[in-house]
Amino acid sequence: MQRNTSQRRAIQSVFERTEQPQTPSEVLAIAQTLAPGIGIATVYRALKELTQEQWLVIVELPGQPQRYERAGKHHHHHFHCQGCGQVFDIDGCARGLEKLLPAGFKLAAHEVVLYGQCATCSTAG
Ligand SMILES: [Zn+2]
Ligand SMILES: [Zn+2]
Repeated sequence: MQRNTSQRRAIQSVFERTEQPQTPSEVLAIAQTLAPGIGIATVYRALKELTQEQWLVIVELPGQPQRYERAGKHHHHHFHCQGCGQVFDIDGCARGLEKLLPAGFKLAAHEVVLYGQCATCSTAG
């Protein structure tokens, strides 16, 4: 089981190295540099286990494959770059959303996704 342990460790280090939510294939690409020979099935299994253990949480953006990020971050939102397709964390929050509600409505939760070009993509063109 030593092999499985080191591969799982590699997958955890992927998330310790980046704040960006990762798709399974993005995780695989980085994990392969840390644990050569690791496969997509191992990545999927580890992501599932780490989510069940509440070490990871699933990030769902409309029309996107599921991504994963570390659990326990403070409230934040995501930016999806339309150039490179990467997703970035955005600190802070849109205030005043309650003001958009019709009279008598109560807000329980919200999702905000920002779209555009990341710094690399916006200077590339
Ligand atoms: Zn980009
Ligand atoms: Zn918010």
